[in-house]
Amino acid sequence: MKKITIAIDGFSSTGKSTIAKQLAKALGYIYVDTGAMYRAVTLFAIRNDFTSEENLENVEGLVSSLSEIHLKFKYNADVGFAEMYLNEENVEKEIRTLEVSKLVSPVAVIEEIREKLVDIQKKMGEDKGIVMDGRDIGTVVFPEAELKIFMTASADKRAYRRYKELLDRGEKVSYEDVLQNVEKRDHIDSTRAVSPLRKAADAIEFDNSDMGLEEQFERMYNFALRIIEKQ
Ligand code: C5P
Repeated sequence: MKKITIAIDGFSSTGKSTIAKQLAKALGYIYVDTGAMYRAVTLFAIRNDFTSEENLENVEGLVSSLSEIHLKFKYNADVGFAEMYLNEENVEKEIRTLEVSKLVSPVAVIEEIREKLVDIQKKMGEDKGIVMDGRDIGTVVFPEAELKIFMTASADKRAYRRYKELLDRGEKVSYEDVLQNVEKRDHIDSTRAVSPLRKAADAIEFDNSDMGLEEQFERMYNFALRIIEKQ
């Protein structure tokens, strides 16, 4: 059976990666979390003092260091998905903190960074059989993807999910801080000049504010099967 490309885009904390992982597993496809790549570049920027608490201060410094940033996904059978490596170090945990979340959108507006990451992403999808999630997958990375999904949910529901996730990981955060971060990232992601977050014209919009995981998965899996059968 022919393999397809599945692009999942949407706002922050809509549960894109949870669904994308399940979908990839059920179809025997590769799963790629492109947010992890932007987060890893952000971690590099923090560690090299290119940032202040609230912003990316040294854009030039980061851009001129791009050749020193090597990103790789390595599959971890214990957790069932590929983890993010920055210069051979597993940074899966470090890239999920609120500190990185606060700085990642200013990093992701930089054209040179997007070019580098989009290039890598396109190469990963050359053989199809891939589920990729992010903000510009259906519009820029794989505009020819056979299945495109655009996920949304109300900001407070998304912030609450994210808040619980961070608490479960042992981070001390306030709900207000998380909500503010989610709204700020949405704003920066949707209004940036290069590859802003947009629903592709041929994407299926999916509001999961009041939808459980099982129902979301069933629906998307069926969309995918229908398309795959027609190939
Ligand atoms: O998906 P996640 O929330 O981990 O993404 C973190 C940030 O990375 C987003 O808020 C966005 O600024 C950026 N991003 C992007 N393009 C992508 C994936 C993520 O700009 N394809």
